[in-house]
Formats: sequence, C-alpha cells, structure tokens
Amino acid sequence: MLVSAMDIFVRTWMSRGMPCTTWHRCRISPSPGHVPLATHGSGMQNGNLSTAVAAMEFINARGEIVRLSRQKDGDTFRGAVVHLGGIGLVTKLTLDVLPTFQMKQWVYLNLPMQQMQAHFEDIMSAGYSVSLFTDWKGNDINQVWIKQKADDADPDKDFYGAQAATRDVHPIIAISAENCTAQMGVAGPWYERMPHFRMNFTPSSGKELQSEYFVPRKHAVDALMAVNRLGKHIAPHLLISEVRAIDADDLWMSPCYQQPCVTIHFTWKQDWDNVKKVLPMIEQALDAYDVRPHWAKLFTMPPAKLRHATSNWPISKPCYSSMTATANSATISWQVACMVNQSW
Ligand SMILES: Cc1cc2nc3c(=O)[nH]c(=O)nc-3n(C[C@H](O)[C@H](O)[C@H](O)COP(=O)(O)OP(=O)(O)OC[C@H]3O[C@@H](n4cnc5c(N)ncnc54)[C@H](O)[C@@H]3O)c2cc1C
Repeated sequence: MLVSAMDIFVRTWMSRGMPCTTWHRCRISPSPGHVPLATHGSGMQNGNLSTAVAAMEFINARGEIVRLSRQKDGDTFRGAVVHLGGIGLVTKLTLDVLPTFQMKQWVYLNLPMQQMQAHFEDIMSAGYSVSLFTDWKGNDINQVWIKQKADDADPDKDFYGAQAATRDVHPIIAISAENCTAQMGVAGPWYERMPHFRMNFTPSSGKELQSEYFVPRKHAVDALMAVNRLGKHIAPHLLISEVRAIDADDLWMSPCYQQPCVTIHFTWKQDWDNVKKVLPMIEQALDAYDVRPHWAKLFTMPPAKLRHATSNWPISKPCYSSMTATANSATISWQVACMVNQSW
C-alpha cells in the first residue's frame, strides 16, 4: 500500500510536467523503487536519480517513523538514501525540482570506434544527455543519441564521422521506432524526450535480461576497448549495449560515490545459461578499472571483489566482514539495514 501511494505521488507529479533535478534524466519513467537502487540516466553533469532526494521519511525495523534531510543529517542521510530496500518502508520523499523546459533529440549512426577513443569526453559532452548504443559486432558504435535543451544549437550533420539519422530509429535498428520518443530535433516537453521510450509503451525489447557495470570516467575508453575485444563472446547473446555518463555523488551505497562514472549496459536475450558464462568474462576484463555493478541488474562478482571495489565507502568494517553469502544486493542490503537500525 505504501509503495502504491508513493507511485501515485510520482505519477501525479510527472503528469504536472515538473522535472526534478535528476529524474528527467532517466530512460524510463521513475517509480519509488528507483531511489533505493541509485537508478541513473546519462549526462556528464548529471548525478543519479537518488541525488535529487532532499529529505525522506521511513518506518524503521522498530516501527518508528524516521525523518532525515540532506540539510540536517549529514552522513546519516547520505548513508540512507541509496538503501536497496534495507532500511524499512519509505513513506515520503522530498525532491529538488526545476522549472519545466523543452528538449529535442538527435540520433547519429555508425560512429567509428577510433573516433570514440580519440574524442570520448567531447562526444559524451555533446548534449545535456548522451548515450552510445552498440552491439560490439564491428568497428563502429552503432548509434549516438544526443538530447539537448530546445534552445541549444543543433549539432552538425556529420558527428565525428557518424551520420545523422534521416528517420526516427530504435536503439536496435531492426525494431520499429514506434515505441521511441520523437527524434530528428523535434522539440517537446522534457518528459517526452529524456526517456528513450514513450510512456505506456514497451521499453527496450520488453523480453530481456540486464547487466550494467560502472567504471570511473578516467578509465572509460580503456574499459570500452576491453569489452570490445570480447565482442565475439558477447554479441551472440546480446540485444544491445548502452554507454552512459553519470556524475559523482556523496551517497554511500551509490556506485558513483566520490567518482564520476561511465556505465556499460548490456541488454541480454533471455538466456541465463549463456549470459552467466559471459558475465565473468566481462567482469574479468573490467577488473583493472575498479568496476562496480548496478545493484538492480545481473552480476557474478564474488564478495571479495565487491568489497574491494567499494572499499572507499564509509560503511563500518564489521558490516563487510559478515558478508559471507553470494555478493548480491539482498545480502548487502541486509548488512546496511543492520548498521542503520543499530544507529537509529
Ligand atoms: C525496462 C527497464 C529499464 C531500466 N532502465 C534503467 C535505467 O535507465 N537506469 C538504471 O539505472 N536502471 C534501469 N533499470 C533498472 C531499474 O533501476 C530498477 O529496475 C528499478 O530500480 C526498479 O524499480 P521498481 O520500482 O520496479 O523496483 P522494485 O523492484 O519494486 O524496488 C526496488 C528496490 O526498492 C525497494 N523499495 C521500493 N519501494 C520502496 C519503499 N517505499 N520503501 C522502501 N524500499 C522500497 C524494494 O524493496 C527494492 O529493494 C531498468 C529496468 C527495466 C526493467
């Protein structure tokens, strides 16, 4: 019931067209479940969705109502916002909001991999939000999606060797663009341009598995090339990959804690038997780049690796030492729940 009440709140607020400082950056419509998992969109200057939370209210394990705010509660607040569902039932969120604005988006096809390597920062900075889509099959990034504020100057027809699409396209080019939001520079409200897919239409392929890895931005190009070298192992099981940028934040369990990141997302065919063989190869290839997994998606990193990857988090050591089961979000969530319920 509580989740439903929050869901109604989010949808009412979205329908009024009022963007919060981060939720308009996501490729899907937000729900209350997005905040605990640090769900993100893309943009060099954009933090994940959880960074828009200014205050929260929840019922803890003792049945007490706890209210925390960014302004008053310092580390206690920063340790609670991304909580993987482990702190109790969140009943209220207060969000930073912005005046509404218009946006437009452009898609470019076939960005040469060498251009991506040479100009990665410029490419990812070419709009308010930029995504790269690829299937790792050739020497090109298949598509570059650039989302701009409506008043920004249109990008050139040639974008680092990629060509402007001449019709609306789906990230998987063989699928009809019917479910996608308007492209070709047609201006519209932010909430009909920031998500790739139209509200009430099937996002992505609709029948898929997902994995996503965060690497510090300074390692982005090397990490992408490491994944590209695995192309022949990845491509047979993949629908499409998306590369995005997220700014650093100060939320303890956020994969972007104190580091601006690039994410490498894999939309897999629904074939866990094969996907679970490829994930360790990707994790091994990204191991040298301080990789962290997305909490809401599939990964196979063992606890020791995860502990190392998150060693700069200010969570107490005893919490980690009791993390013995498979490193999945439920385990970590439980540990954080223990910690926060001790202090509240
Ligand atoms: C099609 C698709 C596209 C996606 N795109 C993106 C993307 O662009 N970027 C990205 O980062 N991720 C993306 N994701 C993953 C997404 O972040 C998670 O699936 C999302 O967080 C789940 O939200 P939910 O409301 O469905 O979550 P649930 O699974 O219902 O909840 C998620 C967590 O939040 C907790 N929770 C929910 N409500 C409350 C509450 N009121 N109080 C306390 N805890 C609560 C739950 O216990 C759970 O631990 C995508 C997933 C899908 C299926």
